[in-house]
Amino acid sequence: MIISHKIRLAPNNQQATYLAKAAGTARFAYNWALAEWQTQYAAWQDDNTQPKPNQMSLRRQLNAIKREQFPWMLEVTKNAPQMAIIQLGAAFKNFFAGRAQYPRFKKKSKSRDSFTLTNDQFSIDACRIRIPNLGLVRMRETLRFSGKILSATVSRTADQWFASITVDTQDYHHLPPTENQGTVGVDLGVSALATLSTGEKVAGAKPHKALLSRLRRLSRRLSRKIKGSANRHKAQQKLAKLHARIANIRQDSLHQLTTDLTRRFHTIGIEDLNVSGMVKNRHLSRAISDMGFFEFRRQLEYKAGMRGAVVVVADRFFASSKTCFAPGCGYKVDKLPLSIREWTCPVCGAVHDRDINATKNLEGYAVSYTVSACGGCDLMPLK
Ligand SMILES: [Zn+2]
Repeated sequence: MIISHKIRLAPNNQQATYLAKAAGTARFAYNWALAEWQTQYAAWQDDNTQPKPNQMSLRRQLNAIKREQFPWMLEVTKNAPQMAIIQLGAAFKNFFAGRAQYPRFKKKSKSRDSFTLTNDQFSIDACRIRIPNLGLVRMRETLRFSGKILSATVSRTADQWFASITVDTQDYHHLPPTENQGTVGVDLGVSALATLSTGEKVAGAKPHKALLSRLRRLSRRLSRKIKGSANRHKAQQKLAKLHARIANIRQDSLHQLTTDLTRRFHTIGIEDLNVSGMVKNRHLSRAISDMGFFEFRRQLEYKAGMRGAVVVVADRFFASSKTCFAPGCGYKVDKLPLSIREWTCPVCGAVHDRDINATKNLEGYAVSYTVSACGGCDLMPLK
C-alpha cells in the first residue's frame, strides 16, 4: 500500500530561505514549461512537422539553457525544476483525458509553495531529512511507516513547512485490530457530519461557520492595506494562518470519524455522492466543502485497507433516502426534498428519520454486496 506521512519540519532561518528558494524555482520552471508548451503546441498545430511538446522534451530544453539563462536554479536541488515539469506533464495528461481543467500558471503565493524530491535525492535519518545542497533539516516527528520511500513533497502552509513522505509499506501493525461490530451504513449529511445505521449521529466540526466572521474581518482588513506594504504582508500572514487552522480542524474531525469507523466495523456501506453536482448548489456548497466528502472517502478507503475492512460504495442511483427500509416493505417514494427530515411510509406506516433510514439501506446494500461477492446465496435483487 502506498501511503504518505506529512511531517512538520523545523528548519532554521537559513534552511527556510533555501526551501522557499527551491519552491520558487519549482514554480518558475512550471510556468516556464507551461508557456513553452503553449507556444510549441500552437506551432505544431500550424505545422505538423514541428515537434509536439512533452514533459521530457521540455525538461531537456530547460537543462540545456538553465546554466546560461537561469544560473540561480543551480543553487537548489535539480529535482525542484525537473519534478515541476513532470507534474505539468501529468496535469496535461489529466486535461487531455477530460479529468481536469487546462493547466494554469502558478501564482506567487507564500502559502502554497512546494517542490518535490525523488527518493534518490533525499534520505531520512531518524528525526531528520537530508536534502541536497542543504543538509539535515529537523523533523517534528519520525516517519510512521517502514518500507520503500518513493518521494517527498516539501510544502508551506502559512508560515510552517512540511514534508509529505510517500512510502510503499506493508507495515500496518501500529493499528489496533478491528473490533468487528459487523456491518454499518454511513450517510454523509449536511446537518450532521455523518449518521450511522446504529442510530449514532456524529456532529463533526464545522470550522468554517464558527470562524467565518473572523475570516471576513481579516479579509476586510487585508483589502484596506496598501499593496506591497509591510502591513499588508502581515495581514496576509494572519489570514493564511487562519485558513490553515480551519483546514486542520476539519481534517482532525474527519480523521477521528474514519478511524472510529474502521476500528469498529468490518464492512462499511457508503453512498457515492455526486458531490460535484451538489457543490453547484450555492446553498449546500459551503456545508459540503466544510465536511470534505472526498477526503472522507479517501481516508475511509485507505484505513479500511490497512485493517482489512471493506468499504462498499453504493451505486450513484441507489435511492438510500427514498426507500423504506422496513423488512419486507422496500417501498420507494417519488420525491424527497432535502428539507424533509422525517417521513412516513404510505405502505407499512413506518416513521423514518431521513438519515437513519438511508444508513439502514446502505447497511443492507453492503451486506448483500459482500455476500454476493463471496459467491453467496440467492439474494433478492437490489432496488
Ligand atoms: Zn414501508
